[in-house]
Amino acid sequence: MAGLEVAAIIAVGSELLTPSRRDTNSAWLTSRLNELGVEVRSRTIAPDDLLDLAAAVRGALGRVDLLILTGGLGPTADDLTREVVAGVVGRPLVQDDRVLEGIRERFARRGVEMPAVNLKQALVPAGAVVLPNGAGTAPGLWIEVGAQTLVLLPGPPRELEPMFEALVAPRIAARTGGRRLRRRVVSVTGLSESQVEQIAQPIYGPLAGGPQPITTSILATPGRIELHLSAWGSDVDAIDRTLEAAVLELGTAIGPAVFSTDDSRLEQVIAAELSRQKLQLAVAESCTGGLLMGRLTDVPGSSAWLLGGLVAYDNRIKIEALGVTDALIAAHGAVSEPVAQAMAAGVRTRFGADLAVAITGIAGPTGGTPDKPVGTVVIAIDAAVPVVRTLRFAGTRPIVRELAVAAALEMLRRSVCPGARGPAAG
Ligand code: AMP
Ligand code: MG
Repeated sequence: MAGLEVAAIIAVGSELLTPSRRDTNSAWLTSRLNELGVEVRSRTIAPDDLLDLAAAVRGALGRVDLLILTGGLGPTADDLTREVVAGVVGRPLVQDDRVLEGIRERFARRGVEMPAVNLKQALVPAGAVVLPNGAGTAPGLWIEVGAQTLVLLPGPPRELEPMFEALVAPRIAARTGGRRLRRRVVSVTGLSESQVEQIAQPIYGPLAGGPQPITTSILATPGRIELHLSAWGSDVDAIDRTLEAAVLELGTAIGPAVFSTDDSRLEQVIAAELSRQKLQLAVAESCTGGLLMGRLTDVPGSSAWLLGGLVAYDNRIKIEALGVTDALIAAHGAVSEPVAQAMAAGVRTRFGADLAVAITGIAGPTGGTPDKPVGTVVIAIDAAVPVVRTLRFAGTRPIVRELAVAAALEMLRRSVCPGARGPAAG
């Protein structure tokens, strides 16, 4: 039997081509296929249309060993996957009595008679293996045609995922050539994408051309740059050693801006360090309205090192709840280094924390002035070594807020992690 090494995925459904519905199945399947050692070469979204769908199936079959289709297996007239696949591979559709009985029983259990439209879900391309659906009426199908395999899976993720795990993954695993994909992620903060690219670029080339080729890609999200390294091979230990060497080389070249090499998020890195040093943190937020607390409390067990946070939006709350003085706000404005420092000191002493972080800023679109334009954010850390920085972010309100949270996390990391200190870039 031919090995399954290269796959294509087609997500079927006109709704997936509108802005309101997202194709999440393809990403999920890609991750599972990679883990099983199958490389995904193409992902397509096809509408519920005979001609478009048939063209997508024909196109994909020209290039791959394995084609997975999701969706379009329902009982309604717009569900065409079964018919189109049968047509393209030249197999007649035949009624499968076991499948029909299963669907009937499903309805009977709910005390209703099976609607006539569901009959078509019992039609199966001749020679196909039926994959029973434990969570819905549409069975999946495994069809082998020559050296190629087509797998048809129901669209709803809660039906597709258990079916894939129980009935598809073991079949694929038995047919792969023993190749595996291994990945590492180098996460960087405080540098721009082009700064990271400039440092990493000279390292990528040799990695890609070595005896164990490593593919690198750079991904940027607000406040974070990720270098994704991946390599295929059958000797997992050897690939892991090569990846580890590449991660070390990149880490050395990029320096302390690297905050993790194991896919950990910034808040997890901070959490681990605060726990290790038995330090407790308090937070005061103005323009980010609790977003920083949201990120910090995403980390399981955060109560061990996080005492709490206060959203001090109005000046009166900064004064009454944090002890910032009227005079300080009058002299410098609510978005200023002295006020940010007073907010951090206020929340730290009031909460009895070892260190505190405070954010105040102008997220926009209104509220900017010539000397404090929209995007001005001041972040202060009250700790053994206090830090305060004024930053200017460009972007819409949500972006300014997200960048403010990322900068606060980065300043926290630099203040608590030994070895991470150094000038934090804006
Ligand atoms: P279908 O099997 O085409 O009738 O799809 C049934 C439902 O499954 C759709 O209404 C969506 O809610 C969901 N669905 C279908 N395809 C996908 C997909 N690729 N990703 C996520 N959900 C999907
Ligand atoms: Mg559909």
